This record gives sequence, C-alpha cells and structure tokens, in this order.
Amino acid sequence: MAQRVAVNDAATGGASRRVSRVRVAVRLRPYMEAHDDKAEGPCVRGLGPQSLEITNWRNAMETLHYQFDVFYGEQTSQQEVFLSSVKPVLPHLLNGQNASIFAYGPTGAGKTHTMLGSSEQPGVIPRAVREVFHLVREREEESQDWEYSVGMSYLEIYNEKVLDLLSPGSQDLPIREDKDRNIFIPGLTHTPLTSFSHFHTVFLPASLNRTTASTKLNQRSSRSHAILLIKVVRSQQSPPHRQQTGKLYLVDLAGSEDNRRTGNQGLRLKESGAINLSLFTLSKVVDALNAGGGCRVPYRDSKLTRLLQDSLGGSAHSVMITNIAPEYKYYFDTFTALNFAAKSKLIVNRPFVRETVSSSVPGKRPRDEQGSVGTAEPH
Ligand code: ADP
Ligand code: MG
Repeated sequence: MAQRVAVNDAATGGASRRVSRVRVAVRLRPYMEAHDDKAEGPCVRGLGPQSLEITNWRNAMETLHYQFDVFYGEQTSQQEVFLSSVKPVLPHLLNGQNASIFAYGPTGAGKTHTMLGSSEQPGVIPRAVREVFHLVREREEESQDWEYSVGMSYLEIYNEKVLDLLSPGSQDLPIREDKDRNIFIPGLTHTPLTSFSHFHTVFLPASLNRTTASTKLNQRSSRSHAILLIKVVRSQQSPPHRQQTGKLYLVDLAGSEDNRRTGNQGLRLKESGAINLSLFTLSKVVDALNAGGGCRVPYRDSKLTRLLQDSLGGSAHSVMITNIAPEYKYYFDTFTALNFAAKSKLIVNRPFVRETVSSSVPGKRPRDEQGSVGTAEPH
C-alpha cells in the first residue's frame, strides 16, 4: 500500500484545501479464557509500539506482521489510550474545528471498553468530556473576549435509521447540510451542559437504556452505531461578534464481524446488511482519505458517513481505534479488521510460538525478518 501523506496548511503554505488523513490505532485486549472455548491460547501478540504479529492459518510456519500508526498492547491503560490518541485533538474543538474518534472491531473485542469503559476504568468518552470542560475553563480565564458553551446530542444509527437516544421513541431523523456545508440533524435533541457531572447525569441513563434494551433486542447494541456528539460554541463578546462551532463525534461502531458467515437469517440478515453498508462505506471513506490525491470520498453512500462528512477528513481530526481480541475464535474477524487498519503487512517465516511475550515492548524484533512483502491474502 502506498505511503499515506497528510497534506496540511503548513506544508502547502495554507493555499490548498486541507485534507487530513485518519490516524489508525490498533488496541489488543487481554486474552480472556472465557472467550476461548478450546483453550487454544492467543493467536495475536504485540511486537512493538506500531506492530503486531498474528498466526498465518494457511501456513503454521509463518506469521503475519502488521504495522499501524500506533499499536496498544494488552497492558495499555485507558489513560494511555486517551493521552496519546484523543487528548491532542481536543484543543481544536475550541477553535471551531471538528474531530471524530471511532472504535472499530468485532463484537467482544473491546470497543465499548475503549469508548465508555467502567467506573473503575473510564474510557475515552468520560475522559474527553472532562478535558473539554477543563480546556474551556482555561480559555475563559485567559481571555474575557470569548465565551464558550458546551452541549451534547446522543444518537444511534440502526438499520440505516437515525434515532435520537435522548428522546425515547424517536423516529428516523433526516440528515441535512446547510449552505456552509455543515451537516446537521433537524429535530435532534441538543442538551446544553454546564459541567462534567451534568454530562454524567444526562449521558449515563441514556447509555444504560441502550445497553439494557440490547439484551432484549438481539444484541442490538452490537448492530448499531452509537454516536455521541459534543458541540463547543465560542462567541466573541465584542465586535465583530464572531461565532465558531467545533464538533466532536465519539463513536462506538457496530461490530465489524461478517454476519453472513454466522448464518443470520431474516430480520437479522437485513440488519447485518444495513450495518455492513455503513461500516463498509466508512472503510471506503477512510481508505479514500488516507490514499489522498483527490479521489472521490463516498460520504453520501451511507447514513454514518453522511453524518460525519464535515468531521472526518477535510480539516477535521480523526482517529480510528481498531479493537481486536487475541482468541482464535475471533481469528477471521481480527484478520479482516487488521487488513482494514494496516499500513503494511509482511509475511514472516517464523511459526507463531506459544510463548508469553509482554506486548508493546519497544525495540523487540522478531528473530527472522527475511519474509517477503505480503501480497498473498490468506483468504
Ligand atoms: P465490544 O464493545 O467490542 O463488543 P467490550 O468492550 O464489551 O467489546 O469488551 C468485551 C469484554 O472484554 C468486556 O468484558 C470488557 O470489559 C473486556 N475488555 C475489553 N477490552 C479490555 C481491556 N483493554 N482490558 C480489560 N478488559 C477488556
Ligand atoms: Mg460494545
């Protein structure tokens, strides 16, 4: 795959339209016996801060090496993920720029853990909202001239329908674009927020609602995209009274597993198809953005990408955290997710040895790297 190069204002003297690539991180969750029916042990492990290896199922004498912008091994804390992948994009929101953070990957691989986490191990969402309030307070102390307001919306895309999670029983909402090319959803609840604890009181019941409903409705949560929007509006207090809006999308995507393989039928097959459309389009959009060079970005081909059109690529800052699981039963879904996330892949003639290697050890290299650049697809 071609090296992906970001074109930004600094590099082009600010003359051209800014096109930013999507930073791709991969996070491997710890091996969990409960997810390994056959007690086969892990089939993936980290090699360094940007790479991992996975068994080559076609040839046990080989492993496949993948490289990303960042690799987070199973020991990586929620704090480290937040500090290196999310915190750096947040100041842009206060300057009227947009950002989006996604968790991608198969069901069970750690998307919700990464985005939401638990009260003991809070994830990206609570940490990001807390930081946004922190930044706002800082800015307000620095200058009296700008006033900031923070608000949220929370929605779900399910079966290519846009549903308001802050308004139970909502119908499919339309997605529109204004004359300045900002994307918005008329009728979507927008709740002004005064503090982080206020956010908690609004968001927590809505997200719990979604999780409880999911067990009753065929694990709906694994088939829908949950999208939290945090909007920061800054208003100048003196003439010319400028106003700027920055949007942050925090997205817990539907499971990337291929439902056709698990033999879903009827309604579930239809759901899978619709989910695949949004996820499939998202992967095309990310590929087009990262390939650069003015190729068409197919934002309009699905609801998810249409909604994110002004916050993914262009001048927006985007991070995709691909979550993967180490157990064999996830092998094909892991493999597919890695092929989407990887900058490069190498086939290495070295069997996947069942040894315990602490992941993310910088500088640790495999013993044998004479493998050829992989073009063969193990499918
Ligand atoms: P997904 O949302 O992708 O379906 P979850 O976030 O629900 O996956 O994760 C599946 C299980 O694995 C949960 O029990 C979760 O707590 C656990 N888990 C996921 N990632 C980690 C991690 N990095 N460290 C510890 N436990 C994790
Ligand atoms: Mg989940």
